Amino acid sequence: MKLTFCGGAKSVTGSNYLIESGETKIIVDCGLFQGSKYAEELNYSPFEYNPAEIDYVLITHSHADHVGRFPKLYKNGFRGRAYTTSATLEMIRCALPDNFGLLKEEAIRDNHDPLFSEEDMNAILGITTGVNYQEPVMLGDFKVTFFDAGHILGAAIIKLEAEGKSVYFSGDLGNPPTPLLNYPYMPKDGNYAIMESAYGNRIHEDRGQRREILIDAIVQTIKRGGTVIIPSFAIERTQEMLYEFNQAFNNKEIPKVPIFVDSPLAIKLTQVYKQFPEYFNIKTNYIINSGDDIFDFPGLQFTQTSADNGGYGSGELPSFGDWRIFGAC
Ligand SMILES: [Zn+2]
Repeated sequence: MKLTFCGGAKSVTGSNYLIESGETKIIVDCGLFQGSKYAEELNYSPFEYNPAEIDYVLITHSHADHVGRFPKLYKNGFRGRAYTTSATLEMIRCALPDNFGLLKEEAIRDNHDPLFSEEDMNAILGITTGVNYQEPVMLGDFKVTFFDAGHILGAAIIKLEAEGKSVYFSGDLGNPPTPLLNYPYMPKDGNYAIMESAYGNRIHEDRGQRREILIDAIVQTIKRGGTVIIPSFAIERTQEMLYEFNQAFNNKEIPKVPIFVDSPLAIKLTQVYKQFPEYFNIKTNYIINSGDDIFDFPGLQFTQTSADNGGYGSGELPSFGDWRIFGAC
């Protein structure tokens, strides 16, 4: 087995690894470089391998820094098959056009061609198969298994086995306990682990503390007649927020005030979350099975356009007592 780090090493973004055994060449993740002034240059640089020689692509999860260059791989000659979890495939189907729109805008602004075309984007969706956690697939000389990473819906730790050895790619790992997802799978075997370590040197407050801070900020702001504006990632964070608000309303921890989710992408992704309850943890499934819609409650409004929220998007904030959630990412 031979492993080459082609991105996502010594940096957080651009996740991209080549693993080879016998005649089989597999790429794990094909992410965008983001957040540095060199990112665009890196994204436009040729891959360190010949995309036409790659047999399979495995995607750990739907964040752009793990999948955003996959259409470019197709553009540059990749014609194999790709695998990810079923939920991740739907998330990519939902989020990639949004991502493509941003790349296109950037390209027009900077006066060069976009990183890939809409046809490349649609092509990768056509060659990708969704699989379940813990159901191995044979891909050439490799046996490949996806395990729950607990990071965002559908996120996976990927195990590759060949030549009597095994390697785990952690992808991004969750910070448990999270409101919706399971704890990350804990491998008890394996010869090698390729680990993410983005927050390796930071201690986060626990979920209980985070929730307390959020509820307190909301209650205090409503009391003094203010408006709460929450910038929120469209993937996972918005759905976690909705879950927490639903619980907080049920427990009467916060008064019933209008809430706006103001992001078409976050709204679409929330529908994807609803399609895959089997990816949620036991507690969340228990709540769903008891008849509660975890992403809906009285006063919640999904606003597709600024007209839906009374034109607040034009810059004027809602009047006393209203508050809203912004989707970003
Ligand atoms: Zn991620």
